Formats: sequence, structure tokens, C-alpha cells
Amino acid sequence: MTYDPSNIFAKILRGEIPAHKVFEDNVALVMMDIFPQSRGHCLIISKAASRNLLDADPTVLSAIIPLVQRVAKAAKAATNADGVRLVQFNEALAGQTVFHLHFHVIPVYEGVALGDHGGGQADSVELAELAQQIAAHL
Ligand code: 5GP
Repeated sequence: MTYDPSNIFAKILRGEIPAHKVFEDNVALVMMDIFPQSRGHCLIISKAASRNLLDADPTVLSAIIPLVQRVAKAAKAATNADGVRLVQFNEALAGQTVFHLHFHVIPVYEGVALGDHGGGQADSVELAELAQQIAAHL
């Protein structure tokens, strides 16, 4: 399977589609998931192009994992979550729907079930606020 640069995350990275950005550096773009499974669900999108973890350059993974940890800590602190789930899918049968390397950071709250993967769209104002709050904890 080859990388297709017409995927939606590549379009967001090129600025062709808007996103609720939390953080950006030369390694990755962090943004809110518009179909969140919980309050504060965000995505770390690799700047380097690969379909997923399987075809990623290991040096890219070495650079991105510390950022994933930072975002997990910031999202937990900003939302007062009780835990954080880290998810990363590889190929459609495993649940991947956007074929550009990314990691999910999903805050988990006691007594609150996670929503479905790719479920309902979140309120844009709420996502903008969450993006600011998480950014403030990075
Ligand atoms: P995966 O490829 O790991 O299965 O999931 C892709 C994720 O991207 C899903 O959680 C979905 O809600 C999210 N997503 C899909 N399209 C968009 C979009 O246009 N903007 C944002 N911010 N997230 C998206």
C-alpha cells in the first residue's frame, strides 16, 4: 500500500482544510478530533508522510513519541480526566480510516463510557476552547 497525499490530514497539514490546532512544530501538528470519543480527544499528526506506523521512518517515531507523551499529560491535566487512552490504527481492517500517520490521545473519565470511533461531530466552539486549554498545559 502506498501513501496517498490526497488524504484529509495531508490537506490539513497543507492548510487546505481548517482544524482546531493545539500545537505545531517541525515534527507534528496536534489538533482536536472533530468526532471525539471523549472530551479532549486529540490527534498528533506526523509532518512526515507515511500511511501509518508500519511504513514510518523509525527516526520520525523517535521524534513524535515524546510529543505524544506531552500531549497525553496536557490533555489529562486540562480536562481533569482520570486516565488517558492512546490509540493508533494500522490499515482499514484494524480500524484506520485516515491513511496518514497519527496517534489518538483520548481522555477517560470515571463513569463515562467512550463514544464510538468516528461517531458524532463535536461543537466547534467547545473544540476551540479545549484546544486552547490543552495548549496552555503543554
Ligand atoms: P483513524 O484513521 O485512526 O481510524 O481515525 C481518524 C480520526 O480522524 C477519527 O477519529 C476521526 O474522527 C478523525 N477525523 C476524520 N476527519 C477529520 C477532520 O476533517 N478533522 C479532524 N480534526 N478530525 C477528523
